[in-house]
Amino acid sequence: MPIRATKRGTERTRLERDCDVLICGASFAGLAVARELAGTGAHVLVVDRYEIGERQTSACGIPTGWLQALELMGSHRQEFGELVIHSPHATARYQLPWSFSTFDYRELCALLAQQGSFEFETAKVEGPPPANSEAMHVVKTDRGEIRAPLVVDALGWRRVLGRGAPIQPPDAYLSRGLEVHPHGRGEELEIWIDRRYVPAGYGWSFPAGDELRIGVGSFDPRFHVKDPTVALARDLERDPSGYQGNWIPHRIREATEGGIFFVGDSAGHCLPLTAEGIRTAFYFGIACGRELADVVAGRQSRAAALARYGAFSAAHRWQYEWMLRVQRLIPRVPPRVLGPALTGMSVKRFVDWSFSHYLAIAHPDYVSAHGDRARAGAHLAASQSPPMPASTASGGSIA
Ligand SMILES: Cc1cc2nc3c(=O)[nH]c(=O)nc-3n(C[C@H](O)[C@H](O)[C@H](O)COP(=O)(O)OP(=O)(O)OC[C@H]3O[C@@H](n4cnc5c(N)ncnc54)[C@H](O)[C@@H]3O)c2cc1C
Repeated sequence: MPIRATKRGTERTRLERDCDVLICGASFAGLAVARELAGTGAHVLVVDRYEIGERQTSACGIPTGWLQALELMGSHRQEFGELVIHSPHATARYQLPWSFSTFDYRELCALLAQQGSFEFETAKVEGPPPANSEAMHVVKTDRGEIRAPLVVDALGWRRVLGRGAPIQPPDAYLSRGLEVHPHGRGEELEIWIDRRYVPAGYGWSFPAGDELRIGVGSFDPRFHVKDPTVALARDLERDPSGYQGNWIPHRIREATEGGIFFVGDSAGHCLPLTAEGIRTAFYFGIACGRELADVVAGRQSRAAALARYGAFSAAHRWQYEWMLRVQRLIPRVPPRVLGPALTGMSVKRFVDWSFSHYLAIAHPDYVSAHGDRARAGAHLAASQSPPMPASTASGGSIA
């Protein structure tokens, strides 16, 4: 059971505050925005309904390069150079051109928070959306109202500060994810694409030191994943304990609306097909933070920052839509064809090409990018795909 650190009841005092930048949400996206604002002199307030790092939101798997680039290796648990993909008729082994790692959520959040310079308060951000005035937004929380000219919604898939009607599963573009965290060790990063577990989606086992993160994600929100998660854990002879789940957006949305900046899952920045949303939350969080830093320094207006950040996010839309097409295609591939196809695609040249292309959507080099490349121009670098090897040019793609 997670230990609840968040203050409750009478321990909660009123929170009425003015600040320069209000960041709602203190997970991957929100903390990445805050990191970019360190040293700007801005009064940054970060709010979350839980204490920082209290509630793990994922299996915490990420390309190792992102942990290195953000100096978060202190939270590292295990590194993998190979991805093992099981399907009903074959197991394919992909030698990755870059490694993937698991990390500890609480430790990572603490390390990332240390890189920022902000005030933190626990508060639940509530609707309705803030009234947009010329100079100030007013954000309602369960502890009072906070006023700030610059407001970031990094609150996850609910997009609490959005203006439209709230999106609700199962109608929205949301996948379902659930995992268990049994004690134990493992050596392999494994994926299952198998209709025995889920008709459209995949199962996973991510070892992380002395625990395993075993789960199932369904691209179809109507399909419940508790029984499949338990079944996968039992097939792996692991105890299905320590449940943790959430909705996962699988379609990119507008990254600005009503004068608010949306980052991470609130903007649909989680990648379709793979449901990788941590590095993209970092990536877009950094992009947003850089634009905000320029506003704080007087180098651009809020309107310009909104326009630039919105355009930056939108420039990635084609990559997201393309991955969504593959997400929809794979469940339609007959199992007898899927196994040989996955094995065929494990050819090193193809894996190098496709996984390099996939990493480039949100590359860790972005952390140290300077000047124009660090801002609106970065999408050009990120969207450049390495040339496809001739031998696989007609062989389809997984990423
Ligand atoms: C089971 C599962 C496994 C996953 N595994 C991986 C993985 O291994 N790798 C990967 O890259 N991605 C993974 N994902 C996706 C990933 O977790 C998300 O894309 C990522 O967490 C998005 O980060 P975020 O900061 O935008 O949002 P979140 O991590 O969801 O953070 C939102 C924050 O806002 C706070 N909050 C929400 N509502 C309110 C409110 N009203 N008031 C105040 N605070 C609020 C929350 O407490 C939270 O701290 C997984 C998802 C699931 C469900």
